[in-house]
Amino acid sequence: MTNIRIGNGYDIHRLVSDRALILGGVNIPHELGLLGHSDADVLTHAIMDAMLGALSLGDIGHYFPPTDPQWAGADSLVLLNQVHQLICTQGWQIGNIDSVVVAERPKLKLHIEKMRDKLAAVLQLQPNQIGIKATTNEKLGPVGREEGICAYAVVLLVAADSFK
Ligand code: MG
Repeated sequence: MTNIRIGNGYDIHRLVSDRALILGGVNIPHELGLLGHSDADVLTHAIMDAMLGALSLGDIGHYFPPTDPQWAGADSLVLLNQVHQLICTQGWQIGNIDSVVVAERPKLKLHIEKMRDKLAAVLQLQPNQIGIKATTNEKLGPVGREEGICAYAVVLLVAADSFK
C-alpha cells in the first residue's frame, strides 16, 4: 500500500491595472494586479491543484468553477482551506510543498516569509514545510513582458495513518 503521493500544479493569471496583487495570501504593493474570477492568487491556486492532483481529485476549476458567482472575488486562502479539508477527509496530510513564482516585477523576496506564514497557518504546517522561490523570466515571453505572473507547485502527501 502506497503511503505517499505526489502532485504538481501550475497556474497563470494576467496582470492588469486596478487589481490587487495577491500572492500566497499576501497583498503586495504594485501598480498592477492579477485578473481572475477569485482574487487570482496564482501561487495558492498552483498549490491547490498540486494537492488535488496528488489524489487524482481533478482540479480547482472543478470545485470552484469561474462561472459560479459564489467564488467571485473569493479569498483563495478560504478555497485552500476547503481543499485541505478534502485531503484530510481522505486520510492524507501534507509532507511538504515546494513552489516557484515567476514574476518579472515586483521583487518578491521581502514578502516570501509572510506568504509561508499565511499558507502554513491555513494548512496547519510549519513554515519550513513550505518552499517558495521567486524568479524572473529574464524578460522572455509573456511573463517576461509583464503580461502575467505564473506559479508552479509540487506537493508531497503522506497517509495520515502512517504516523500512528
Ligand atoms: Mg487560477
